[in-house]
Amino acid sequence: MLGPETIKQMSDVAAYRAAEEGRYPLSIWKPEDVRGLPFLGDYVPAGWRYAIWSDFYQHPRNVWPREDERAHFMVDSSGFGSRDEPALTPSELGDFVMLPQRPQHEYGWAIVEAGQFQIVVQAYVRDETATGTEAPDRESVECEYCHEVHGPFEECDPELLTLGDKEFFKKLDTAKRIVIAARSRK
Ligand SMILES: [Zn+2]
Repeated sequence: MLGPETIKQMSDVAAYRAAEEGRYPLSIWKPEDVRGLPFLGDYVPAGWRYAIWSDFYQHPRNVWPREDERAHFMVDSSGFGSRDEPALTPSELGDFVMLPQRPQHEYGWAIVEAGQFQIVVQAYVRDETATGTEAPDRESVECEYCHEVHGPFEECDPELLTLGDKEFFKKLDTAKRIVIAARSRK
């Protein structure tokens, strides 16, 4: 299982990259579009806001929504989920996002968190007046060793490590390197 720190770190790196690359919530036209959801973490681009459940007429089977709560829910990403488990299957997600909802809204969709077997999918609503939420700054997501931005499961580029770091890293197995890299960026 992934620890909460690792999951947070993955989200922050995703948010940083999404902002750098100018990504935004995906508008969906057909069920298969859910395969291309961007991973935004906590980044919300200007012009969008989080949808809350009162922005919807219908909700997925795995939430018991409160009107004022952010509209997000778990979806299976392992490929082995089924319709009687708490996470929606990707095909249930595809069905849900195609349901008619409030016609005045333009909805968008993205991933806010990714675990080992599940993702958290968030709904957004287009809102010209929304200022969005900035991504974490580079300093907070930069790797202490190679000074690049990468996730806890991506290895440092060896070219970028200093000699001292290289010697230190060589002695560790991959799992420990991942933990250390994740901790060092807290
Ligand atoms: Zn690194």
